[in-house]
Amino acid sequence: MKHVIQFSGGLGSFGAALRVAEKHGTSSMTLLIADTKAEDEDLWRFADDVSRLLGVPLTKVADGRDPWQVFRDQRFLGNDRITPCTTWLKQKPCRAWMKEHAPIGDSIVYIGIEKTKRDRARIPAIARNWRPWRVQFPLCNRWEPELSKEASKARLMDLSRWYGIEPPRLYALGYEHNNCAGLCVRAGQKQWKLTLDVQPEKFAYAEGQEQAIRDLLGKPVSMLRQTRQGITRPLPLSELRRQHQAATGPCPSAA
Ligand code: SF4
Repeated sequence: MKHVIQFSGGLGSFGAALRVAEKHGTSSMTLLIADTKAEDEDLWRFADDVSRLLGVPLTKVADGRDPWQVFRDQRFLGNDRITPCTTWLKQKPCRAWMKEHAPIGDSIVYIGIEKTKRDRARIPAIARNWRPWRVQFPLCNRWEPELSKEASKARLMDLSRWYGIEPPRLYALGYEHNNCAGLCVRAGQKQWKLTLDVQPEKFAYAEGQEQAIRDLLGKPVSMLRQTRQGITRPLPLSELRRQHQAATGPCPSAA
């Protein structure tokens, strides 16, 4: 049986890989990771550390584009509901690898969904997306209690340090996930404000990319929306920055 970990470079898939290693060993394990060309540099340090710990090389797949290029090509800006970046940069390359290397009857896909209320709600859709392969969620065992997101993250960070691996730096900066360097199009206002505070240069980059797509499409598209007095409008990152800076003052590190 082939045990294929969908390894995102985050703590959840790290925890899943450890559980699979405990149960099945690592001789038939694959750490399959999609390079979105937009990851935080420290993700690759963490991924290499995990690979060394388990003695399993990373199996990297890549479309070759980054999310912004996908949005330009698709003439569509991703948002919290529709993410062509995931489809093109993660799902398609990973499924192509699976088709070639992981026979359906002899392979199990493992996903690092944590046992939190919000994450568990995603399980049916994820399992559907991976059909016809069998999918398991090693961190969602029946006999374990459901945790808050904070408690789950703290537990996985402790586990990582216990194995001598420093967790990816984005968690210490306050992010819930280690994906696309904190610039995920699915993130809400809270995370984008965090990015403005702790990674202002990356926020400025995303703001510029979003504006370039608005110019390309000739439409006021945006990743975020804002509802005021019952009316929902697009909220471009430039406007979010103005609102946040008006509320808190300019970020000192941006000065
Ligand atoms: S992490 Fe976010 S931005 Fe990156 S590919 Fe997935 S949905 Fe797109």
